[in-house]
Amino acid sequence: MDNTMATRDAARWLAAFNAALDAGDPTTAAELFIENGFWRDLLGFTWNIVTLEGRADIADMLAAQLGQVKPCTFTLDGAAEADGDTITAWLTFETAAARGCGLLRLRGGQCWTLLTSMTELIGFEEPAGPRRPLGTVNSASKTRETWTEARQKERAELGHLVQPHCLIIGGGQGGIALGARLRKLGVPTLIVEKNELCPKVGDGVIRRRFDVA
Ligand SMILES: Cc1cc2nc3c(=O)[nH]c(=O)nc-3n(C[C@H](O)[C@H](O)[C@H](O)COP(=O)(O)OP(=O)(O)OC[C@H]3O[C@@H](n4cnc5c(N)ncnc54)[C@H](O)[C@@H]3O)c2cc1C
Repeated sequence: MDNTMATRDAARWLAAFNAALDAGDPTTAAELFIENGFWRDLLGFTWNIVTLEGRADIADMLAAQLGQVKPCTFTLDGAAEADGDTITAWLTFETAAARGCGLLRLRGGQCWTLLTSMTELIGFEEPAGPRRPLGTVNSASKTRETWTEARQKERAELGHLVQPHCLIIGGGQGGIALGARLRKLGVPTLIVEKNELCPKVGDGVIRRRFDVA
């Protein structure tokens, strides 16, 4: 099978899947999977990280979630590829609350594995790419706030005038990365670190492990 035929088959499967979801029909949607097919969902449908195994699990999840998730569009993202008896296709999808991407693998016209991964919340998109704050202000004005002034203001207000919506326990690399993403989303976040000896954020583990002076 060439990739043109693989793309046609993947598009056909997605059209049937979309129709079953639009009709709110978990059984028909689950029957588009092979008997023991897998659906790995990262937040997109379940707000959780789950692997569903087999049609019964998939139908149960959809019956529980379809009402609130209201998935509307699964779309092919580029051409599908054929490899032996397997067709692989990237996809995008949108639900009532979020956008996501995923990967579909078909065997014999049915879904063998499906991955759905939420990438952003609709209305709360991360200011990335062209939406990213520039960070540099080249124009001068009387009311211009320097980076240092903005930082001092944030430090003075957070936890006092502005209450954090999120508290991260531990300022290691994981905590700091999460804090940075939440900050970009405009979520006031406080990171607390128990290790007072850290000379810099993120140093806690290294100092404890190697007893750096
Ligand atoms: C000996 C060793 C060598 C390693 N070498 C490498 C390497 O070379 N390359 C590599 O990529 N990875 C390495 N790793 C793994 C890497 O260090 C960890 O995967 C990484 O640090 C995990 O980051 P984290 O932010 O999830 O957790 P951590 O770095 O453990 O951060 C958690 C933070 O939370 C703080 N904390 C914990 N409990 C509380 C609490 N109750 N209140 C407040 N604060 C709290 C801790 O003080 C710490 O600062 C190594 C690990 C070890 C043990």
